[in-house]
Amino acid sequence: MVQAIDIAALNERYETMATTDVVAQASQELFKERTAVVSSFGAESAVLLHLVATVDPAIPVIFLDTHKLFGETLRYRTRLQHHLGLEDVRVIGPSKREIEDDDPQGTLSMSDPDACCNLRKTRPLARALRGFDCWINGRKRHQTAMRDGIDIIERDGDRFKLNPLATWTRAQIVAYVSKHRLPEHPLTKENYLSIGCIPCTSRATNPDDARSGRWAGQNKTECGIHFNSAGKPQRG
Ligand code: SF4
Repeated sequence: MVQAIDIAALNERYETMATTDVVAQASQELFKERTAVVSSFGAESAVLLHLVATVDPAIPVIFLDTHKLFGETLRYRTRLQHHLGLEDVRVIGPSKREIEDDDPQGTLSMSDPDACCNLRKTRPLARALRGFDCWINGRKRHQTAMRDGIDIIERDGDRFKLNPLATWTRAQIVAYVSKHRLPEHPLTKENYLSIGCIPCTSRATNPDDARSGRWAGQNKTECGIHFNSAGKPQRG
């Protein structure tokens, strides 16, 4: 476990550092082999995964298969993994026993979406992250009000969470995908701008708000994996 990190000083440096350098510094110097990436292989995931593959394609990539994902996402995961040469993609999810116990009908997402996310995302991810000191994810400040204050590196219980794309705009994402000719998730052509589980994903209702199609009509914007120890969404 990493002991003393001056997180404020690190954030100050990271704000002006190239994103690739942030990923490299964290994964090769600060946390070394105890760093993992968590990716949904969703609409914008190719950017972070390309950056990571550029630094080191052997960095473990954790993919949460909730058993509620689009077939397009599962196929895109395979395609992108091979395209980028990612060497260690780990598919995790709830166990059969957990689903039988907590969601035998498969309808928990409708009656209690927070409990469903806890079953299908939060608990499996907590297990998968054991042994890692830092996890990298693709959140950006522009995405939601909850995310507008996130730091590039933040504490997450006993470990750290790196948000190397925190400062990126939607235009930067689009330009990066184009420049590097990255394969796009097939559903983006159908106006799915943020892609998660089938029951909780719809086409974006606001073209300027990519996450407007997530949990549409509900007072929910996060699945729980980005909550802090008090159970509240992390804002930095
Ligand atoms: S996003 Fe929806 S279906 Fe997926 S785990 Fe959360 S509540 Fe369940």
